[in-house]
Amino acid sequence: MQRDSGIPIDGLSAQELFGPGKGLTYDDFIVLPGYIDFQASEVDLETQVTRNIRIKRPLVSSPMDTVTEWEMASTLALLGGIGIIHYNNSIDTQTEHVRKVKRFENGFILDPVVLSPRHTVRDVDTIKAEHGFSGIPITEDGTLGSKLVGIVTNRDIDFEKVRTRPLSEVMTTDLITADEGVNLHQANQILKKSKKGKLPVVDSDFRLVALLSRRDLLKNKDFPYSSKSAGKQLLVGAAVSTRPEDRERVESLAAAGADIILVDSAQGYSVFQIEMLRFIKEHFPSIEVIAGNVVTVDQCKALIEAGADALRVGMGPGSICITQTMMAVGRPQASAVYHCAKYAGEHGVPVIADGGIQGIGHIAKALAIGAGAVMAGYLLAGTSESPGDYFYENGMRVKRYRGMASVEAMDAGGGKRYLSEDNKVVVPQGVSGTVLDRGSLIEYVPYLMKGLQQSFQDMGHGSMESLREALYSGRTRYEHRTAAAQAEGTVHSLHSYSPPKFGRIQVDGF
Ligand code: GDP
Ligand code: GDP
Ligand code: 5GP
Repeated sequence: MQRDSGIPIDGLSAQELFGPGKGLTYDDFIVLPGYIDFQASEVDLETQVTRNIRIKRPLVSSPMDTVTEWEMASTLALLGGIGIIHYNNSIDTQTEHVRKVKRFENGFILDPVVLSPRHTVRDVDTIKAEHGFSGIPITEDGTLGSKLVGIVTNRDIDFEKVRTRPLSEVMTTDLITADEGVNLHQANQILKKSKKGKLPVVDSDFRLVALLSRRDLLKNKDFPYSSKSAGKQLLVGAAVSTRPEDRERVESLAAAGADIILVDSAQGYSVFQIEMLRFIKEHFPSIEVIAGNVVTVDQCKALIEAGADALRVGMGPGSICITQTMMAVGRPQASAVYHCAKYAGEHGVPVIADGGIQGIGHIAKALAIGAGAVMAGYLLAGTSESPGDYFYENGMRVKRYRGMASVEAMDAGGGKRYLSEDNKVVVPQGVSGTVLDRGSLIEYVPYLMKGLQQSFQDMGHGSMESLREALYSGRTRYEHRTAAAQAEGTVHSLHSYSPPKFGRIQVDGF
C-alpha cells in the first residue's frame, strides 16, 4: 500500500490486521511508532469507562474475591481507576464494602456514624474497632437528622479510665458548625480556621445533616486524579450474578450508593443476563450497568439493545482461566477486543478489555485496538490492597489469587457466574494459585500509568481520543509478530539479568 505521494505505508491498518478468521491476541501483534511532538507527562489518559462515567485512569479491578473489596476499590478510585466489588459473599457484606468506599474519602460524609448522649465511651471504642474512626457527632436521639448536642473525638476519651461513662459527660458541647448548603470550599475554610478535626453540618434547626473530616481535606490534595461523583464520594462498582434472586442484591447495592452494577457472567449472551440488565435499567436508571462477558458482535448487539452502558470483553484469556481448554469456546483476546470495541463504539458504548493483561504493554495494546479501559485481576492481586495476607512460598513473598470458577472459589459460593445448576458435579473453569508481592497500589498504579503515558508517546498520541481517531482512520499501523519476533522482543541472550522493580518481565508485559 502507498500514499498519494508515492511513499509506501508500513504495516497494516487494524481492520487488515484483524481480518476474517484470524484469532490474535496481544503478543501476536505490535504497534508501529508514531510522531512525537509532546512530552510523555502531557499525555492525558482520561477515558470513558461507561456511557456516562469518565475516569482519569483506564484501569478497573476485577470482581474477584482475591482482588476487589473496599480497600482495593477505594485506593484504586483515589488513584483514578475504579474497583468492582465481588459478590462471593452475603448481600450485607458486599453492601458494607460499597458503603465503606462511599464513605472513604468524601468531601461531605453524608451518613456519618452518630451516637446519643446516653451511649458510652465503650460504644465509641466499638466503632473505632469496626470502622477505624472515632470522631462521632452526638445528637439527641443518636440518629442523623436529629438535633446536634455535642461531639466526641479521640482527645475527649483517650485518657478516660471508666469506659462505661455516658458520652453526655465527656462530649464537647461548644461546637463549631457549618450551615446546610455550605459548599465544599467554604466548609473547608471553616475547618481550617477552627483547627478541629471534624466539622458538623447542620440545618436551620441545628439538626445534623453531614460531617466533614480534616483528614479528607488533606487527602484531597494528594490524589488529583481520583474518581469521584458530583457529591465528591469515590466511585465504586459492584458485581451481581444473573440469577433472579440477585435482584435483592441489586436493590441493596443501589441503596448503598453503588455507581456501577456489573452483571457478571462468563458467557453474557443469555436470556438471564438480558432480563437482569432490563431489571436494573428499569428500576435504577441512574446506575450504570456493565454487561458481559462478550467476545462477538452478536453478543454485543443483544446487550446494547437491552441497555448496557459498557461491555466487558473476554472469554478465556484470564491468567487463572481454563475455559477455552475445558469448554472449547471463547476467542483470542485481541480479536475479541477489536471487533467488540468497533461495534460497541458505533453505538456509543465503551468496552472494557477483561483478562490476560500482564503488564503495561498489554494495557497499551488493548487501548490501541479500541478498549476504553482494561480490567485486571492478576495485575492487582499481589498488591497490599487486595484481600488476603502475604505468605512465603519457596522464599518469595506471595498472595493467593484464584479464579472465581476454581473449585476453591466455587466452594465459597462463586459458581454463580458459570450457569452451573447443581453443585453435585463440579467442572472447574479456573485454577487457584499465587502471585508475587507488588507492594502498594499507591506506588504501583502511578508506575503503570507513567509507563502507559510513555507508550502513548511512542505511538504518537496525547490522548485516548487521538488514539481512537488514528485506530479507525487507519493511521495507526500494526504488524503481526512471528514467534521469533516475540522472542526477539523480550530479554534474550543474557547469562543473567536483574528484573525491573515490579517483578518478572512478563512476555511483552513491559
Ligand atoms: P477520627 O478522628 O478517628 O474520627 O478519624 P479521622 O477523621 O482522622 O478519619 C476518619 C476517616 O473516616 C475520614 O476519611 C472520614 O471521611 C472517614 N469516615 C467515613 N465515615 C465516617 C463517619 O461516619 N464518621 C467519621 N468520623 N469518619 C468517617
Ligand atoms: P482528634 O481526632 O482527637 O484530634 O479530635 P479533633 O481535632 O476533632 O478535636 C479535638 C477537640 O476539639 C476535642 O475535644 C473535640 O471534642 C473538640 N471538637 C471537635 N470538633 C469540634 C467543634 O466542631 N467545635 C468545638 N468547639 N470543638 C470541637
Ligand atoms: P487476569 O487479569 O487474571 O488475566 O484475568 C481476570 C479475569 O479472568 C476476570 O476479570 C474474569 O473475567 C476472568 N475470570 C476470573 N475467574 C475466572 C475463572 O475461574 N475462570 C475463567 N474462565 N475466567 C475467570
